[in-house]
Amino acid sequence: MKKDSQIVHAGRHPERHFGAVNPPVYHASTILHPSVAAMEASGKHPFEGVRYGRFGTPTTFAFEEAMAVVEGGHKSVATSSGLAAITGALLAFLKAGDHLLMVDSTYFPTRKFCDSVLTGLGIETTYYDPLVGAGISGLIRPNTRVVFTESPGSLTFEVQDIPAIAEIAHAAGAVVMMDNTWGVLTFQPFAHGVDVSIQACTKYVVGHADAMLGAITLATEESWLKVKSSVAAFGHSPGAEELYLGLRGLRTLPVRLRHHGQTALALCRWLETRREIERVLYPALPSDPGHTVWKRDFTGACGLFGLILRPATKAAVDAMLDGFSHFKLGFSWGGFESLVIPTTGHSIIRTASSWAPSGPSLRFHAGLEDAADLQADLEAGFARLKAAA
Ligand SMILES: *Cc1c(COP(=O)(O)O)cnc(C)c1O
Repeated sequence: MKKDSQIVHAGRHPERHFGAVNPPVYHASTILHPSVAAMEASGKHPFEGVRYGRFGTPTTFAFEEAMAVVEGGHKSVATSSGLAAITGALLAFLKAGDHLLMVDSTYFPTRKFCDSVLTGLGIETTYYDPLVGAGISGLIRPNTRVVFTESPGSLTFEVQDIPAIAEIAHAAGAVVMMDNTWGVLTFQPFAHGVDVSIQACTKYVVGHADAMLGAITLATEESWLKVKSSVAAFGHSPGAEELYLGLRGLRTLPVRLRHHGQTALALCRWLETRREIERVLYPALPSDPGHTVWKRDFTGACGLFGLILRPATKAAVDAMLDGFSHFKLGFSWGGFESLVIPTTGHSIIRTASSWAPSGPSLRFHAGLEDAADLQADLEAGFARLKAAA
């Protein structure tokens, strides 16, 4: 079965639910046990069957089963947000005295977690250049337990050579994690050496900007149990409605993603020709420095891209952003609607590699609006940029 067909079927068991096409939403905390003996028996295998709401209900299991299919992994663990998936995965594999290699272009809250919580727990983080490739070998220490990757970076769009990094990490006995939110369905992490794949399902999986959800997918039963126990210990369980919205979003994910990707590519090709633009950051563009690796490892792209403008005043850029009809100002991405954020200044922090754009930087999400309308919106934005200059 091809991936699109697998995603239609994944996690669905109509025969268990009176033939209903979709799984029911179990609103459950307490699960009743028929006897003391049954209660004691369930305690011996806390992650089998339905025992208590926090460990999951059939709604949770349906979502986890479907996410494992999306990622091409063994099993998944659902979490209450994308960030809970990142922190839950890291803390499942790291303990005091361990060393973590974290990509310098990582999602900012991930960096904040390393610098605050992990530091406090006695876990040391070294940031590395996203383009390090096989050069990661020079940074590995005897106590390096995890090499964390994210490709492309969600603000700066560097594409990492994941197979090269994974080969060296594995030789040193380290676990390779990846934030695969951008790759969602177009990067198959386990075929490229990743051991633990993380997605902020809040973005494309939910796809409608109406729920927070995350997933951690593992390659083996052993690592699944490790992560499931860690996530349960932290109490990162998602709510029933969020899980259902994740399942519902999944069914149309391949179709939506192709559309987002087509629109973004058309816009990026046009933006490249505009004189207001210094650089377009989108790996699917042949001119992008990450294009060769992207083409080798990914089967498609998504709607998220960046722009570096020619030097302009903040007032002019603000006037451009404030007036958009479709590209609205808001964090997150992956929903049906177009978004934009300015990324100049504080939101990009680098300690191991340089990020010094020659002009203001922006991040766009191309939604499901008509591409011509989005292009017209950008064109009107450039007129405001010029008028305010
Ligand atoms: C949004 C995002 C997250 C965090 O997801 P939440 O569900 O908002 O916690 C993690 N990684 C990337 C790349 C993201 O864009």
